[in-house]
Amino acid sequence: GRYTKQDVIDLVRENDVEFIRLQFSDLFGTMKNVAITARQLEKALDNKCTFDGSSVDGFVRIEESDMYLYPDLDSFAIFPWNAGGNRVARLICDVYGQDGLPFAGDPRNVLKRVMVECQKMGYKFNVGPECEFFLFHTDEEGRPTTVSHEKAGYFDVAPLDLGESARRDMILNLEDMGFEIEASHHEVAPAQHEIDFKYDNALRTADNILTFKFIVKYIAKRHGLYASFMPKPITGVDGSGMHLNMSLWKNGKNIFADSKNDLGISEEAFHFMAGVMEHANEMCLITNPLVNSYKRIVPGYEAPVDVSWSPSNRSPLIRVPAARGSGTRLEFRSPDSAANPYLALAVSLAAGLDGIKRKLTPGKGSMKNQYEMAEGEKQEAGINTLPRDMKEALEIFKQSTYMKELLGDHIFNKYVEAKSAEWESYQKFVSQWEVDRYLYKI
Ligand code: GLU
Ligand code: MG
Ligand code: MG
Repeated sequence: GRYTKQDVIDLVRENDVEFIRLQFSDLFGTMKNVAITARQLEKALDNKCTFDGSSVDGFVRIEESDMYLYPDLDSFAIFPWNAGGNRVARLICDVYGQDGLPFAGDPRNVLKRVMVECQKMGYKFNVGPECEFFLFHTDEEGRPTTVSHEKAGYFDVAPLDLGESARRDMILNLEDMGFEIEASHHEVAPAQHEIDFKYDNALRTADNILTFKFIVKYIAKRHGLYASFMPKPITGVDGSGMHLNMSLWKNGKNIFADSKNDLGISEEAFHFMAGVMEHANEMCLITNPLVNSYKRIVPGYEAPVDVSWSPSNRSPLIRVPAARGSGTRLEFRSPDSAANPYLALAVSLAAGLDGIKRKLTPGKGSMKNQYEMAEGEKQEAGINTLPRDMKEALEIFKQSTYMKELLGDHIFNKYVEAKSAEWESYQKFVSQWEVDRYLYKI
């Protein structure tokens, strides 16, 4: 590990840290935290901090509610800003039950389990995400809107891009938190941005995704903007994805690279890809968890609609970016930022490993633009479509014993329960689209 218990104690003292946030993730990837004062640090580091698990989404019932937080020492970081004159640090934690065992409902624990399996197979899994988001205005009461500053700024006299300067500030703060920012740019849609940070092992990356979203939102607010990772906030323009760039490593070498092969990628890479394709629909409810997620994965907006792969083009589910050598990777393009990163990375890795175990092959890559292929043509080529809506994804998920085993009964059941309720609620809601379309006609 990077830090010992004593290191953390020393760092807190040397930096005058007053508060430490003990963070963990609920079932849906929402970051939760309990703040303690520096005086409570030793207790926390001895895994003695408890919280009420019954108040956390997808955790436990009232009767068994005391849960323990076990801090991951390596996750220690000090926030780059002063909160009311105080320095604040964080530790990301695993959740344990009163029985001293990892809690079955802790998504971080699911990812750790799959990573152990990966290690047993002799591999290390690295992931680099590409998180896209919008920067919107807030209204007079400070509530988020879907109005973009860029549209508002369009007629302004001075070319004042609030988004640019917010993004720069985000990057500086992320770097202070230890992120290595590789690229950042404006995305296709007005007010849409992307900031990419360097790949790391899956656990670190999942932790980083939660931290990233927190920092981006926090800094946006300081600039009077609202950052949203909602998959499709605006009809008719690109939505926001969270592409996952995945690679397997052995003895410090990326084993997805293979110069002897036509495409420069290895057998393992093809098997891994085929595994992800094999399970793509079963795990779609995890990678694309919201009703709204399915409004992003429609034709015409650079998001995938089919279970297919391509050496280059951006419409399939999996793309093989041009970089070779240590940069060789598979870009999994369906996930969005609403996904719980621990679960999304766990199911992606498990699916890929399953492909390797079963030596699955992905078939021929598609050179075609999937949006322009006719249904019949796709059928002939044996190309499956991704679920069209959350209901379809939910039905496929519910039938999947593979997913149930992978996630464990606790998470599987709680997830199905929550997503069923979400769909029911959506189903009953009369939308503006319906009113516009039918009111005057019928
Ligand atoms: N915004 C697109 C999506 O929804 C992706 C654009 C890109 O290729 O970066 O996935
Ligand atoms: Mg992008
Ligand atoms: Mg990408």
